[in-house]
Amino acid sequence: MRPFKYQRASDVSNAVKIVSANQTAEFLAGGTNLLDLMKEDVMRPTELVDVTRLSLSQIRSMNGGVSIGALAKNTDTANHPLVRQNFPLLSMAILAGASGQIRNMASNGGNLLQRTRCSYFYDVAMPCNKREPNSGCGALEGINRMHAIFGYSEKCVAVHPSDMCIALVALDAVVKVQGTDGKTRSIPFADFHRLPGDTPEKDTNLNHGELITAIELPKNNFAGKSYYLKVRDRASYAFALVSIAAALEMDGNRIKQARIAMGGVAHKPWRATEAEKMLVGKEATEANFKQAAEAEMKGAKPLEHNKFKVELGNRGIVRALQMAINGGAV
Ligand SMILES: Cc1cc2nc3c(=O)[nH]c(=O)nc-3n(C[C@H](O)[C@H](O)[C@H](O)COP(=O)(O)OP(=O)(O)OC[C@H]3O[C@@H](n4cnc5c(N)ncnc54)[C@H](O)[C@@H]3O)c2cc1C
Ligand code: SF4
Repeated sequence: MRPFKYQRASDVSNAVKIVSANQTAEFLAGGTNLLDLMKEDVMRPTELVDVTRLSLSQIRSMNGGVSIGALAKNTDTANHPLVRQNFPLLSMAILAGASGQIRNMASNGGNLLQRTRCSYFYDVAMPCNKREPNSGCGALEGINRMHAIFGYSEKCVAVHPSDMCIALVALDAVVKVQGTDGKTRSIPFADFHRLPGDTPEKDTNLNHGELITAIELPKNNFAGKSYYLKVRDRASYAFALVSIAAALEMDGNRIKQARIAMGGVAHKPWRATEAEKMLVGKEATEANFKQAAEAEMKGAKPLEHNKFKVELGNRGIVRALQMAINGGAV
């Protein structure tokens, strides 16, 4: 590990001031991703600003929705009564990620900003445009079983790794940010992460030095009919091959609103808008679920080793919708 400066931030504006003044400084929250990346020499910050003592861990009710502090732990967020009762999809998604020990350390802000798990990104002997701009992409012609099927570019085919974020994009969350100009701003979750384009080194639309302070979830009527399905190589402690967050609001036996988002398929949490549109006004039948899944998945462009993700996505969407309509039971 390379030497770095460490200091504790006294308050939010102090944290933003220190990090924004140094292009190679980073905020430190739970450290479960950042410290691993530093040990692997993938990230080389010269200064860490510890934000864990800032008072940003409240989870509170907000106009029928909920505001979740950026420094609340993943475990506390998943288990909070406001989240469990009103946004069970978020609890399910968080609990599908990592392990109990890691969730006890991991913060919500850090979860949003965790880096991809592309193995070429972690291997400093390999080319990777995300780690080293313009060095090439090892995965494009390499082993790309875990990689994207939607929205990638020649520069990067990596996928976004978080489970929590798949539920957040489905639930129309908003990220609250303390800007470097002293003002706060709100970023709709769908615009928070980016597709790779020509700048895969940028995962999100945050500016350097901006601090996430909270995540807000607006009130919705999806609580009784939502489900997070994660398909992975092992039953625990593994990232998604494909995951699906599904939520339905019914009007009698017809679907009033549908929310579907996918993980493991793109550089950002992938909102399945084609599938959502197909479902509005329809009955919640297997045939309609299949039609919706096909509408979404026909846009997929698999790479050499991940063609299986298209069928997995198709079946996963149907299965997640069936689980959602049955309140989590088959
Ligand atoms: C073995 C292992 C398995 C895992 N499995 C899964 C899984 O299956 N699913 C899943 O979703 N995740 C998984 N994770 C990832 C885990 O969820 C993340 O490591 C964790 O959420 C990161 O949170 P943290 O607080 O530790 O972030 P840190 O490591 O402290 O920070 C991560 C990044 O976020 C920045 N940051 C942190 N807080 C803020 C803030 N408030 N504002 C601005 N920037 C900030 C930091 O500067 C850093 O760049 C796994 C991790 C490990 C180690
Ligand atoms: S897919 Fe992206 S992260 Fe992986 S090697 Fe290519 S550029 Fe790097």
